[in-house]
Amino acid sequence: MGKKGKLRIGWFTFACSEDSTILMTEIMNDCWQEWKKKVEFAYARVLQTQNELNDLDVAFIEGAITTDKDAERAKEIRKNSKYVVAVGSCAVTGMPTAQRNLFDSELKKEIKPLLIKFKHREKVQPVKDIIKVDDDVPGCPMNEKIFLEILDKYLKLFKVK
Ligand code: SF4
Repeated sequence: MGKKGKLRIGWFTFACSEDSTILMTEIMNDCWQEWKKKVEFAYARVLQTQNELNDLDVAFIEGAITTDKDAERAKEIRKNSKYVVAVGSCAVTGMPTAQRNLFDSELKKEIKPLLIKFKHREKVQPVKDIIKVDDDVPGCPMNEKIFLEILDKYLKLFKVK
């Protein structure tokens, strides 16, 4: 649990357009007063410069996994979180970030130097291919209603009032 019995959460981003992050900050316009009382953002680079990756109740992960470094980071997040939620289609299914997985062999050959240069893996993967994911928020960007329902589920699970 976070400070003063709050839900201690993290918000993480891998390869994507970060629209769900933007949406989450937009939702804050309506929910900030409530979240201030119930949620501790231990890690959210979009909101603060001081971040902690330890003892998280819930980690929300946006974006797809494209590099070995991403995969290691995802494992580190899992190790430090009781629950992990994939947020948005890129995290849940890999798409649309994973479009290059579907390129024909000619296109794949063309992008190969870029993959090598930026140390990208052969295939883009959803978060669940790397670590255990407890919940999904589908949508591109994330479905706001489902995100709020899942957040509420964890507030109840951790008995945050
Ligand atoms: S799911 Fe859609 S909105 Fe979210 S990061 Fe991927 S492309 Fe962007």
